[in-house]
Amino acid sequence: MKTILRVFSYLRRYPRMAVAQLACAVTGTLMVIVFPGVTREVMDVVVPNQQWDRLTPLALLALGAYFAQHLCNSLRIRLNNTFEQKVIYDLRSDLYERLQTLPLRWFDNRPTGDVMTTVSEDVPSVERVLIDGVEQGLVALMQILIVGIFMFQADARLALVAMVPMPFLMAGAVAYTHSARERHRRVRRASSALNSLLHDNVAGMRQIKAYAIEAAEHARYNRASDALRQATLHLMKVWSVYRPGMNFLTSCGFVLVLWNGAHALMEGRIEKGDLAAFLLLLTYFYQPIESLHQLNQILQSGRAAGERVFEILDSEPEADTEGGRELDQLRGEVSYEDVSFSYGGKIPAVRNVTLQAHAGQMVALVGPTGAGKSTLINLLTRFYEYDSGVITIDGVPVKELNKRWLRTHIGYVTQESFMFNGTVRENLVIAQKDATEEDLWRVLESANAADFVRRMADGLDTRVGERGVKLSVGEKQRLSIARALLRNPPILLLDEATASVDTQTERQIQQALDRLMDHRTSFVIAHRLSTVRHADCIYVVEQGAVREHGTHEELIARDGLYAELCRTSLMETETRELAAS
Ligand code: ADP
Repeated sequence: MKTILRVFSYLRRYPRMAVAQLACAVTGTLMVIVFPGVTREVMDVVVPNQQWDRLTPLALLALGAYFAQHLCNSLRIRLNNTFEQKVIYDLRSDLYERLQTLPLRWFDNRPTGDVMTTVSEDVPSVERVLIDGVEQGLVALMQILIVGIFMFQADARLALVAMVPMPFLMAGAVAYTHSARERHRRVRRASSALNSLLHDNVAGMRQIKAYAIEAAEHARYNRASDALRQATLHLMKVWSVYRPGMNFLTSCGFVLVLWNGAHALMEGRIEKGDLAAFLLLLTYFYQPIESLHQLNQILQSGRAAGERVFEILDSEPEADTEGGRELDQLRGEVSYEDVSFSYGGKIPAVRNVTLQAHAGQMVALVGPTGAGKSTLINLLTRFYEYDSGVITIDGVPVKELNKRWLRTHIGYVTQESFMFNGTVRENLVIAQKDATEEDLWRVLESANAADFVRRMADGLDTRVGERGVKLSVGEKQRLSIARALLRNPPILLLDEATASVDTQTERQIQQALDRLMDHRTSFVIAHRLSTVRHADCIYVVEQGAVREHGTHEELIARDGLYAELCRTSLMETETRELAAS
């Protein structure tokens, strides 16, 4: 019930539309009772007394009432649709706004397809509660009330008889509502699982083809699809019993009224017209009850969807994105002191790390994969918040700095250079909105990317495809370097690519990187000896902790872990490259 009430709180944003709808609904419903009234008058008064002159005005009255009723309906439908679209828009906008504030940790645990399902399917389902809640629910309730009053006025005894099925109808509705929640939840879960799988597989289509696992993946998809089918069928099975069952109960009401009415007629207590009018009224009384059952189904589905929507809206946003200090000038002195961090597992990903990078220095992080190097640099941007110790920039703890400010001053070039599905230009200007054509070409030149961009069909306006699939790895890397150059941040985080590119491209990338790192404090997760050699300081990380640090020469002289790494992995890359050239 709480979920439903929360959905209805969205109505409050548009009070005038809600009132206008209500007015249309009331007027339209009031018109419903005109025809039964006219019928009774015609049969009981006009016909027996041969009042020819009254027949046409009465018919016109009924016609006018019908016209007014349907005119109100038409208005209400239009209002409702505008209203509906406004609410969907608001809900989606709220949802997206919240999504962007959620910490990365939240996204780590949530399949993309699941989020997509909530935004694209759950939102309309929640909104249907609103439109149908008003359109069907309100109108139906009012019609029941108004027609009910008229029924009691027309014939209290028959009206009481017509009420006999009501307790059974209510009991049925309560029982259905009680058990419906879980059935609808199952459908939502199954639908989300199916979408998540689809999203994952479309993104991984290259891998699926490369490993030739199409058949297995198809089977997996079918299993998820079958789970959705079963859940939906189960839902419909219960519905197929519930709805006709309830309709049968109202039919019993008709028969009871007819039976009792016939008795009253034969005993001379009522007129023929009274019974006919009453049966008409009864149709208008039971009809909205049927819509209420339909509405119940929509409410239950909306409740299950609403739970998912509100779960996102209620998720804890990333702490203090707005607050915090902004420094006037950033020199780029970075220091980690006794920093520890855990993703929540038993073993911390970063343990008591202390390291320093002076302004303009280049610090290399080396170590086996999974050692915690990426985690370490992610703590600086506050993608994740460290648990203990302190990280400072120019002596100020990063936790005191405004997050947005902090991130705009740190450039991040990741190993898999992510490109958005847009043009080269669009992908560059995210670093600086008002960059001129000249700026773009300047950074492309520095990143050694100008040549290939010039060769592209539409130059800067060439579309790069989803995640940049239409570009080679080397091209993507150079574009992301150009992007970082455009942002011109005082601090740079660089996850050196391990993917092998040809030596010439490698040289071009290296040159671009050297230009990028010039005059900035840089942290490089290094995989190449050539990079490490140039570093002002090398930190060797293993199992989340710094094992040794120093310059290349110092560490080689120590003949410890670094020297060992040089002999194996770092050298390997170098040898491979030499062999390739
Ligand atoms: P490296 O960059 O040195 O290869 P990472 O910093 O990526 O290492 O990973 C360090 C450890 O943290 C690994 O054990 C990895 O499994 C774990 N880890 C990395 N990212 C996450 C995450 N988002 N959620 C949970 N654990 C993670």
